[in-house]
Amino acid sequence: MDLQYGPRYEAFRAEVRNFLEAHKPEKPVGSLNPEVRHELVAWLSLQIDHGYWARTIPETYGGFGAEPDLLETVIMDEEFNRAGVARGMAAQGPSMLVPTLLEHGTEEQRSRWIGPTMRGEVIWAQGYSEPGSGSDLASLTTSAREDGDDFLISGQKIWTSGADKSDMMFVLVRTEPEADKHAGISYLLVPVGSPGIEVQPLRTMSGSIGENSFNQVFFTDVRVPQSSVVGRRGEGWKIANTTLKHERNSLNSNAEGTLLRLTRLMRQESANGVCTLESPLFRDRLMQLQARALSMKHHGMRMLTCSLKEERAGVAGLVTKLQNCQLNFDMSSLAIDVMGELGVLYDHTKYERDRGYWQAHSFFSLGLIIGGGTAQIQKNIISERGLGLPREPKPAPA
Ligand SMILES: Cc1cc2nc3c(=O)[nH]c(=O)nc-3n(C[C@H](O)[C@H](O)[C@H](O)COP(=O)(O)OP(=O)(O)OC[C@H]3O[C@@H](n4cnc5c(N)ncnc54)[C@H](O)[C@@H]3O)c2cc1C
Repeated sequence: MDLQYGPRYEAFRAEVRNFLEAHKPEKPVGSLNPEVRHELVAWLSLQIDHGYWARTIPETYGGFGAEPDLLETVIMDEEFNRAGVARGMAAQGPSMLVPTLLEHGTEEQRSRWIGPTMRGEVIWAQGYSEPGSGSDLASLTTSAREDGDDFLISGQKIWTSGADKSDMMFVLVRTEPEADKHAGISYLLVPVGSPGIEVQPLRTMSGSIGENSFNQVFFTDVRVPQSSVVGRRGEGWKIANTTLKHERNSLNSNAEGTLLRLTRLMRQESANGVCTLESPLFRDRLMQLQARALSMKHHGMRMLTCSLKEERAGVAGLVTKLQNCQLNFDMSSLAIDVMGELGVLYDHTKYERDRGYWQAHSFFSLGLIIGGGTAQIQKNIISERGLGLPREPKPAPA
């Protein structure tokens, strides 16, 4: 087996490194707040111009237009991780909606939304969950009834991450109330500023930490043109599953980058006068996490290879979300333990390490074990669809 990248790819690596040396921002750029959004847009646009973001998206849709290349992707990730800089933007628009539009959108929808979304000019929220429909998403009741060329949407969504900072939502609604549970759903693109939408932020156990806000969103006769449907009317379940597939794959995290950061922290922290990186107990936990991070890295390459060859990943694809989310949470748990009593501090005290990154990461990664389909649901999917075990019994009809 040849584990060298070869001269062509090493030249590409040098190019990425030079770019990062020349352009690496002095402070993290990622805020969705309107006052500083222009910084994010400028940074993402620069990455697109150099082909480090939206790399394989066609130029006509605002991308860089390169051919897919697995090793280039791996090298970009490695170099951005090493520099401690986010490649692109981890948000629902680029990671979930854009691939969905590339697969199912109309030409007009692709031309209108993909470029601005990748540049961070348009921020999206995902309107799937409802108070009574989470794991059993297809039971959703938010309705869209026809009114001339438009739909009028009424109902409620909940756990809508970032809706308070979003411009647009992709929303699942019931357009055919008489149809079967899975058959009557449509997938709509809705401006968050539309009359009749009320976004109410929800406070979570992570309090004021980070930018990851939760909301509930109320719809009262919200008017959108019927042309806002992605795919065909009544086929929203299929489209929603495309988005969910991309959501679960996008939760593959940056385990290697997080591991590097964890190792840096362990070098700095000490317990009973011993550097935590040298402590056998902590070191053993780090080694186990390193093995898992490496195996998930290679798993990610396998997934990418499948997707480039347009092959199905089978059961291997089903484990990604479950494993990555748990790994991320376990890494942050080690970081919290390594910091000892300082690990439980947050809300910006002067003793906080790394600007509270690990506390925020811990809460966030715990949430991701639930978001996008809970770990229990993932295990059901793996056992039923992947391993062919019997389906879980349905409750008897009332
Ligand atoms: C961090 C985070 C971000 C989120 N962001 C969004 C978002 O942007 N947009 C959006 O629409 N939603 C979002 N959600 C909501 C998320 O998709 C739901 O929380 C999730 O699907 C679970 O639904 P629920 O909360 O209604 O729990 P329930 O479905 O009520 O589940 C409750 C518990 O029962 C278990 N359970 C349920 N059914 C089964 C079963 N058949 N077998 C075994 N166990 C089962 C679950 O695993 C869970 O432990 C987010 C959630 C989190 C935590």
